[in-house]
Amino acid sequence: MDSYQAFEVTEMDDGSFSQAVVTKAVPSLKEGHVLVKVDYSAINYKDALSSTGNKGVTREYPHVPGIDAAGVVMASSTSEFTEGQPVVVTGHDLGMNTDGGYGQVIQVPASWVHVLPEGFSTRDAAVLGTAGITASLCIDKLLMTGIGPESGPVLVTGATGGVGSMAIALLASMGFEVHAFSGKPDQYEALKALGVKQIFGREELSESSKRPMLKGRWAAAIDTVGGVPLENVLKSLLPQGTAAICGLVASPALDMTVFPFILRGINLVGVDSAEVPSSKKAAMWDFMAEHAAILKKYESWVAPIELQQLPEYIDRILKGGVAGRTLVKVS
Ligand code: NDP
Repeated sequence: MDSYQAFEVTEMDDGSFSQAVVTKAVPSLKEGHVLVKVDYSAINYKDALSSTGNKGVTREYPHVPGIDAAGVVMASSTSEFTEGQPVVVTGHDLGMNTDGGYGQVIQVPASWVHVLPEGFSTRDAAVLGTAGITASLCIDKLLMTGIGPESGPVLVTGATGGVGSMAIALLASMGFEVHAFSGKPDQYEALKALGVKQIFGREELSESSKRPMLKGRWAAAIDTVGGVPLENVLKSLLPQGTAAICGLVASPALDMTVFPFILRGINLVGVDSAEVPSSKKAAMWDFMAEHAAILKKYESWVAPIELQQLPEYIDRILKGGVAGRTLVKVS
């Protein structure tokens, strides 16, 4: 194989960005690196930003986005991996300033590569991908602060998003009572089928309150949206509750007092799935393998597309119009 197809984003002279599927040459293998033939990728919010010229995510163009890639080893310069082995790469610099999973071939440092747990196909790994890792890391943080199914209900915000829907599926599989905060009434039935017991509409938590604390409702929360909804969630956690936060689709701002922290002893913990140590990421893949049964239930949340369809779906995710995971068939 000398060449491969990739969805590439180019910065034009007038400052706009163009997207096209192009042919690229397979690079020669670098020391300490692995060449992976990519079967599947997915669309995460960060991919949509990289694909539309967000310099906070990708500094230089032309660039191939895709922070998730699942496929098989083509060649490895370390003895850790063998040709044909099914592997997955998520996060690190993949798809940010290193050409990512929207290309049929990637070259990455060996330390970024994880062998797929037994029983997962490359398709399964891409369906889970960064969304699954991030949801798992959030759950891990809840468990670390003593939260368990007996603690009380857990609220998931951005419920129909990639991270939110994965968190719901995993929490329900662990026996948690899951509540959802969602702006998509047409998905309420699907959320219930995924395991949600109670749903709060976008309007219910989006109004800023001057009160330092609100009625305690949730033992924990997984927040993907930030801003005013997160403020209201933190003010509504039960004593010793925990919010694990990872996203900012509503806003990166947080404007509130310390009262819920010092009067209810609540915890606010953050998750960064990109640079989490490799051993932790491996543990999260094992955790997801224990809950592999969620994949069957999750299948109706998977929208498979081809590389050529990326522009349309990138636009949709930027407008908050996607439910679940958009799976990209790359090869
Ligand atoms: P998605 O676009 O798939 O999901 C986001 C969801 O948030 C939407 O589906 C929608 O769900 C909800 N939403 C959208 N706009 C708003 C709004 N203005 N106010 C409130 N809710 C809104 O994104 P991902 O799941 O991929 O990512 C979610 C967030 O998490 C992003 O900010 C992303 O950057 C971040 N992230 C962080 C990671 C980390 O390691 N820290 C890793 C992965 C993602 P609904 O309609 O149901 O409300």
